[in-house]
Amino acid sequence: EVDKTFIFYNEMASKIKEIKKLPEFAWVKAFDSGASQQVARDLDTALKKGTSKTSHQHFPKFKISYRVKKQHNDSYRSVNNNNCIRIEKGAITLPKVGAVPIVLHRCLVSKIKTATVQLRHGKWEVSLTQEVACDEAKKVLKSITGYDINSNQTVVGSNGLIVDNPKYLKAEKQKLTRLQRQLSRKKKGSVRWKKAKSRLNNLHGSIARKRMDFAHKTAHRIANESDIVVFEDLNVAGMQKFNGKMVADNIMGLISDLTKYKVELRGGIHHEIGRFERTTGVCSVCGQHHKLTLKERHFTCVSCGTFSDRDYSSAIAVQKIGESDLMANGTVVRVTKTPNTQQKSGVKTKVFALAKLSLGSEEIEKVAT
Ligand SMILES: [Zn+2]
Repeated sequence: EVDKTFIFYNEMASKIKEIKKLPEFAWVKAFDSGASQQVARDLDTALKKGTSKTSHQHFPKFKISYRVKKQHNDSYRSVNNNNCIRIEKGAITLPKVGAVPIVLHRCLVSKIKTATVQLRHGKWEVSLTQEVACDEAKKVLKSITGYDINSNQTVVGSNGLIVDNPKYLKAEKQKLTRLQRQLSRKKKGSVRWKKAKSRLNNLHGSIARKRMDFAHKTAHRIANESDIVVFEDLNVAGMQKFNGKMVADNIMGLISDLTKYKVELRGGIHHEIGRFERTTGVCSVCGQHHKLTLKERHFTCVSCGTFSDRDYSSAIAVQKIGESDLMANGTVVRVTKTPNTQQKSGVKTKVFALAKLSLGSEEIEKVAT
């Protein structure tokens, strides 16, 4: 305010230490000092990104409407210094908070790095970060699969995988509107209003958890089935396909994100094709483009006469574009298999190798067969 300059992390950190001594800032001592340092660090990165010309992030304009009274999301982040965050006997110990009983969703594999505590849908959650080593990058990648979503948000893979969208939101929509109507009839701030609000909050929470569970399970299946996974650019594709209404429940972007890390943990490759690639109505045999209306689920190719399923053929198109992308940018190279093994199995399998590795051709053949 005074000299129109910003201060950065080091200065902020020392200022935090200074103000703690002042009586009017005694409350700063009441919480974990690591958490305030984290906030200072976040502000530091935000300032640096907001003022830098190379970053695409801009300085905020501070146009927060007065209707948004809650500007924080009831959360904070702590760093594990000297084992101050630990799990013992079904309880998590946090600095200044002490031991809190928890429901542990999975076993820890390594030391806890940070803990983020937040209030979500009326329940306190803590997410812990740990360091997990990825599997070594696979030298030989045996399969490539493209995935497409149709307007019903069913996942269709070029390997024949079909996962139906469970549409939790649609099923619970009635319940949701009923609760919202009940809430609107209550006097704001009253006891009954609070009760109705928490019921609504619980329903939102249950939908969110079901959605996440479904996304994780589907992503797990996809990651297990192939070594190279190709998706559309779902942010754009989703919007073009579903025109607003269903984007809110667009679970595919989530599945693609989750698949990315699951595939990388297994040493595979995740790829998203460019946003302007055409995948709908492309013949899987000759590549002829067709204009299809939303209702047409099947089409017959005008060039070669192949009858194909709309979703399956676009999954194939996604796979083909992904394949040529990855070969063009030099991530993988095609390895031709010896013809007799192909005839034996009767299934046409593609085998790729990481381009960076100069494997001898014999070695690739050995792993490929
Ligand atoms: Zn064709």
